[in-house]
Amino acid sequence: MAPPVKCLYCGQQFDRDKVEYISPQYHRYAHKECAFYADKIHKAAQEKLNKYYIKGKVNKDIQKFCLEDGFDMKNLWGAVHYWFYIKNIDKEIDASRSGGGIGIIPWIKQEYFEHEAAQRRNKQLNVGKHIKDFVNQNEREVNFNLPPIKKPRGMNFFNLK
Ligand SMILES: [Zn+2]
Repeated sequence: MAPPVKCLYCGQQFDRDKVEYISPQYHRYAHKECAFYADKIHKAAQEKLNKYYIKGKVNKDIQKFCLEDGFDMKNLWGAVHYWFYIKNIDKEIDASRSGGGIGIIPWIKQEYFEHEAAQRRNKQLNVGKHIKDFVNQNEREVNFNLPPIKKPRGMNFFNLK
């Protein structure tokens, strides 16, 4: 039996005999799934932070957020994607303030989960409905029934003020 190793990304120990893994660096191991999402996170950070991007800093952030901030790799990628490609899709990100990593992510965690929850609700509302049901044949207007996003009270973990 191989001795347990620590995932390069999420920081969890695992048994190489029991889970799918890869070895991204010599003598370093990672869950296959973690490596998949880490790759996406790195590509996004590289694109958006450009010359400020520091690979080691992003890796450090990834591990910290998984171990200390309650993220798993899938959610972490979701939050990174939300920040770069949904919330700030049309805005310039001041990469000089990033420190080369993705330190912003824990600060937008609550906002990201609220966004996700709203997305899920919308999807459920629209299950079984077809686009033609929403189209006014004369006006060609599409009326989707989107619920307002409610902020849960008392759940503001990240007060930026
Ligand atoms: Zn992992």
